[in-house]
Amino acid sequence: MAITQNFKEELVGVFGHPVAENPTAVMQQAAFHELNIKWRYLTIEVFPEDLEAAIHGMRAMNMRGINLTIPHKVEVLKYLNEVKSDAALMGAVNTVVRKGDQLIGENTDGKGFMWSLTKEEKIDPKGKNVIIFGAGGAARSITVELALADVNKITIVNRSAARGMELRNLLVQKTNIQSDFVQWKKHYTISSENEIVINATSVGLFPNIHDKPDIDYFSIQPNMIVCDVIPAPTTSFLNEANNRGAHTIDGLGMLVYQGAIGFNLWTGLDAPVPVMKKALEEVFAKQQ
Ligand code: NDP
Repeated sequence: MAITQNFKEELVGVFGHPVAENPTAVMQQAAFHELNIKWRYLTIEVFPEDLEAAIHGMRAMNMRGINLTIPHKVEVLKYLNEVKSDAALMGAVNTVVRKGDQLIGENTDGKGFMWSLTKEEKIDPKGKNVIIFGAGGAARSITVELALADVNKITIVNRSAARGMELRNLLVQKTNIQSDFVQWKKHYTISSENEIVINATSVGLFPNIHDKPDIDYFSIQPNMIVCDVIPAPTTSFLNEANNRGAHTIDGLGMLVYQGAIGFNLWTGLDAPVPVMKKALEEVFAKQQ
């Protein structure tokens, strides 16, 4: 009897520019290996002007889905057949799932943050007052999910007034949440009414690991939950919060869970979260 072998692999990946340092492949490959499935995650450099062709290409190659990173998260919307409601609210997609000939856009960044907060740290944000530093893509995805989870109020603090007001208006008009925008003044003092404090700026990102947001760190109280979107190494922002007795949460959980949600959307399988987390920890350990 002839022995037949199936060499075909299901393809997913990430389109970005620059993309070389994106660690997602390591965690997704670890998950495929753990579950012994023939899937492959490709890290693909796509220049902004080539995004449309790249999307045609992924359809032609029957890829099962794709992640989008800088600078494609907004631009990709025009090439999709459907965009899920929270991604449409954010106006940004980081995960595309192919179902037959349909390309469906999702945003798992904010959901990753929520899973880290609720599943891993067992914190229910409902009814809480939140202050977030930053108003870029990460802040947008996190605040939309927090608003949908019925937090009481979101205060946005940002350097650029235009970007901060835009996010505040989006939240108020599209989710009915209470939200204020405050332009970032030097040595910002966090009011004690805030229960969840989030750094969603890129301040402190490797290799500038000693930089920290310009905040009066004495205004951080021990009863506050203080989160950073930066996965590793632990930021000076979180170290300051730790020193003041706050409950701190780094961005590693957000990164792992946004990938785990994407894994599940693509494969239909439960993601092996601990394996994915360990794979990323090993990547970040080599950076330090
Ligand atoms: P954007 O470029 O969209 O936004 C950057 C934000 O940081 C803006 O609000 C910007 O303010 C602010 N900012 C930058 N430099 C300074 C500074 N020196 N002082 C004050 N504010 C500053 O980036 P993203 O939102 O996509 O990413 C932000 C961070 O989130 C990055 O570190 C990224 O790695 C991380 N991230 C983590 C994820 C995870 O899964 N853990 C997922 C996605 C992102 P302004 O508007 O004034 O320019």
